[in-house]
Order: sequence, then structure tokens, then C-alpha cells
Amino acid sequence: MLIPARMSEAEEQRWVRVMLDKLAAQESRRTLGDAELAERARRLSAQYFDGRARPRSVRWVTNQNTRWGSCTPSDGSIRLSHRLQGMPEYVVDYVLCHELAHLLVPGHGPRFWRLLEAYPRTERARGYLEGVVAADRLPHVPGVRDE
Ligand SMILES: [Zn+2]
Repeated sequence: MLIPARMSEAEEQRWVRVMLDKLAAQESRRTLGDAELAERARRLSAQYFDGRARPRSVRWVTNQNTRWGSCTPSDGSIRLSHRLQGMPEYVVDYVLCHELAHLLVPGHGPRFWRLLEAYPRTERARGYLEGVVAADRLPHVPGVRDE
């Protein structure tokens, strides 16, 4: 840490405490850990799919930039893109529900979407994610997107 030279010891200690608090706050904003994510998936499965979707692992991955989530039904694993971190909870929950539903129904046929209707914010979350994708594609216009 870089500490301004003319601080008294008391000031210095106070300043270090403030910095540590800031770091801790950033840490806790850094979204759910994998264990919490798995717990969340269990709760969502219980709430919307009668607990029938039972993932064996749920974790964040950083190598997934074109998909928000993916799952492998044969080993029951679900992966969520780290790009979802910092998005609203209902969006993360939607992607979890989407992947949980895939453990029960493969593909995106009518049965799949009927199952997902159980999650009340499906449409809203899909709209949010479409908006994120569209915003990513906007050309860089100085003075409009940059303040
Ligand atoms: Zn899907």
C-alpha cells in the first residue's frame, strides 16, 4: 500500500482501516461463490421444478463468452459465464433455471419453454440479456457512451 508520507501514526492506522474496509466491501460485492451458486440452484430447483433438477456441480467459468450458461446433462454439471456477475439477481436466477430445465428437457422446444414458465421473470430476464447483447454491438460513439 502507498501511504502518504506526512501522516501521523494514528492517522495512518485509521487510513489503513478505511482501505481494508473498502477492500472487504469490494470483495463481498464480487457476487456469489461456487458453493453459494450451487445452493441457489438447489433452492430454485425446489421452488420451480419440484426439486427434480439435481445438478451435481454448479460453477462460474471465464471461458464462456458467447453463452450465458451451459450444462452437461450426462454428468449433471452446470456452468455460468462470469459475465453474469454483477447483473441483477433475477437474471442470474433465470440462467440457473434455464440450465436446470435443460437437465430435465434437452433443446429449446415447446416443452422446455413451458417448463421455464414456472420461473416468473423469464421474459424480463431474457429481455435484459438481449439488451446487454445489443449494447455490446453498438458502435463506439465518443461523447454519447463516454461521459
Ligand atoms: Zn438453453
